Amino acid sequence: MEGRKPLIAGNWKMNLDVGDAVDLARSIVESLKGRTDRDVLVAPPFTILPAVRDAVGSRNVFLAGQNMHWEMKGAFTGEISGRMLQGVGCTHVILGHSERRTLFGETSAMIDLKVKSAALLGLIPIVCIGESLEEREQGRTFEVLEEQLNGSLQNFRADALMPASTILAYEPLWAIGTGKTADPGQAQEVHAFVRGWIEKTFGGAPARDVRVLYGGSVKPSNISELMSMPDIDGVLVGGASLKADEFIPIIHYQE
Ligand code: PEP
Repeated sequence: MEGRKPLIAGNWKMNLDVGDAVDLARSIVESLKGRTDRDVLVAPPFTILPAVRDAVGSRNVFLAGQNMHWEMKGAFTGEISGRMLQGVGCTHVILGHSERRTLFGETSAMIDLKVKSAALLGLIPIVCIGESLEEREQGRTFEVLEEQLNGSLQNFRADALMPASTILAYEPLWAIGTGKTADPGQAQEVHAFVRGWIEKTFGGAPARDVRVLYGGSVKPSNISELMSMPDIDGVLVGGASLKADEFIPIIHYQE
């Protein structure tokens, strides 16, 4: 991991009511007392962000939006801007999650606009990429990921600059919510490829500093092995981030 601080992130998706979310946030904060060797982040639904922010207080749990629009404001019914996310305490935003890409038709070009807008605001983007089972079976994994990286980070490429704070998340679609995890060797192979792409596109410094998370059926039983891989710098957790008795052991994994 070479100096990159591990990041354990929970994507709560469209789950949890305000009471359960606040309880979960408090349990996470409580479990983190005295722990500074890893970063923890949660991405609650928009409507409960203020309650979770208040529960977290000034403690070291970062807040993320699960999505945002690229415009700052305007006539975009149903959308939320990056500035609005910052207004309720978000420091990060998840962009291009596979559910956004596949269920809501988000393209890499749209994600690129969002990444640019987030960067302008100083909101740290967590940019998700991942191949489908069919693409993997056709031997197209690296080609698909490279396309997603090139497209989703087009503006960074135009400036030949990738901020060191940018976070990437490799989430193979066939492992999300399915109980199937990429085995650590498979995940490491892809993470090494992603790091190589960062190096060839932006140079050695971002390749050294940018964190690349793994996501897809992460649980207490597989976290340690995943985190022992040199290019896996953290995890983005869906289902298992909704329950304290699963997410807290994931946060406190031991290598
Ligand atoms: C996700 O959707 O980002 C995810 C990784 O989900 P799960 O952990 O449930 O597979």
